[in-house]
Amino acid sequence: MSSQIKTGKVYLIGAGPGDPGLVTVRARELIETADVLVYDYLANPKLLNWARLEAERIYVGKRSGLHSIPQDEIEEILVERAHKGLQVVRLKGGDPFVFGRGGEEISELQADKIPYEIVPGVTAALAAAAYAGIPLSHRSYSSSITFLTGHENPEKQSISIDFKQHGKTQGTLCLYMGLGQLPRILSEFRAGGMAGEMPVGVIQWATLNHQRSVYGTVDSIVSDIESAGISTPAMIIIGEVVNKRSKTEWFEGRPLMGKKIVVTRARDQASQLTALLESNGAEVIELPFIEVQPDINPQLITEILAGIAIYEWIIFTSVNGVKCFFDLFYKAFDDIRCLGPMRIAAVGSATAREIESHHLKVDLIPSKANGDALVDTFIQDEGIESIQMLVVTGNQNRESLVQRLEAEGGAIVDTLPLYKTSKADLSRQPAAERFRKEGADAVLFTSSSTVKSFVDQAAALTLEVDAIKPAYGSIGPLTTKSLKELGLPVGFESKHASLDHFVNATNEYLKS
Ligand code: SAH
Repeated sequence: MSSQIKTGKVYLIGAGPGDPGLVTVRARELIETADVLVYDYLANPKLLNWARLEAERIYVGKRSGLHSIPQDEIEEILVERAHKGLQVVRLKGGDPFVFGRGGEEISELQADKIPYEIVPGVTAALAAAAYAGIPLSHRSYSSSITFLTGHENPEKQSISIDFKQHGKTQGTLCLYMGLGQLPRILSEFRAGGMAGEMPVGVIQWATLNHQRSVYGTVDSIVSDIESAGISTPAMIIIGEVVNKRSKTEWFEGRPLMGKKIVVTRARDQASQLTALLESNGAEVIELPFIEVQPDINPQLITEILAGIAIYEWIIFTSVNGVKCFFDLFYKAFDDIRCLGPMRIAAVGSATAREIESHHLKVDLIPSKANGDALVDTFIQDEGIESIQMLVVTGNQNRESLVQRLEAEGGAIVDTLPLYKTSKADLSRQPAAERFRKEGADAVLFTSSSTVKSFVDQAAALTLEVDAIKPAYGSIGPLTTKSLKELGLPVGFESKHASLDHFVNATNEYLKS
């Protein structure tokens, strides 16, 4: 490290309305390189996954039942870290200069002569309108857009805005922080001349998969909000344009919107399944049933890599195996041709994709994603008598694969174990705690081993009385068999054992 003193800097960044896809490229770059991240309640904590592991993360938002950290303390944190020469990212929901107290933080930084940069963000009004399909302006109905706040300062109840004046507008009003004072604000709009039939839309948690909205009129909306059970944070949009919203709800109309689905993490396909479910609108709870850790025998690796070119086939049984193998391979060699002219087999399509990301063709994938199907294909289609094979794998389920290749196929097999999977302790995992409290609409099982882990961990997954009881979904017949054997009722089964089909089956089942 150089001994030069770095100048600290504060980046005041708009974290957008919630969906991590809605922050700017600049915001992401700065999050990735920050030393310190200071974030509040409305900034999605998922954004922190982009940060360096060692970056300091400071939450300054509301804690359940408590107030947020006072503004002067937040400013002190920023100033103190910047004085130490650190790059400080201050993440604020939406845009920092729209009802975000960004101005106050900047004055403090200026007073302390701390360099800063401001990165704008998608403010809640724009996001809520887009995700509800409401055009904020319209050539025939609205030529002005006004951002108002219903709550200037939590310490004082009075507000300086002349709402009556805004009741005269022909344009669109977007009301931030308006729920608490809504009856009073609406009556002032009416006193200013606004019609009781003026359309109103209220959108809670815009852009997130738990977004909900309710529509009504100036006269009806207070009771509509109450019956819909909508609460903060919510954006209130008032104007003729609310009735011009698109008929098909591109966001809230997605099939799994409002559904909570459990998948198991730390399996090869988990992140892909999660992404598919989320793009269909689901809220996904990922339960980490197993932990994957490297399990490396340096001598064995050196021997195998030294003789890597002798193998005619290399078999990968999992994405983890592929990842660990190539990490080690690239440490030992800087030329992919050192792999030799071997052929490559993968047990399933996720594993194959991981291999293909190294620009290597996969020569064999069995039609069913399991070790037995792989051996059958080898014996029937290839003939592996006296062929040298390398199996790259973890600590589970490898014996029968290797044994069948040798005993039935007559192959000469070396095994390269690279990682081990072990049971995770769910009792203190926040995801498991959430499942216990809230339950879910479905739990999806992608293999027999996930069923087994679920049953093994039953004690840490016991639902509280008022939690939603989930349906159990299975990716295919083998998994269904395990569910039945272990006494779990099968809610639905996917027609084909692929993630796309599984998500479709989930959509179908939960629709009813
Ligand atoms: N700086 C933020 C606003 C902060 S004030 C911005 O530019 O968006 C907080 C208010 O913003 C909330 O009370 C709510 O009215 C609105 N808000 C923020 N995020 C929201 C979201 N995801 N959905 C609906 N309203 C939201």
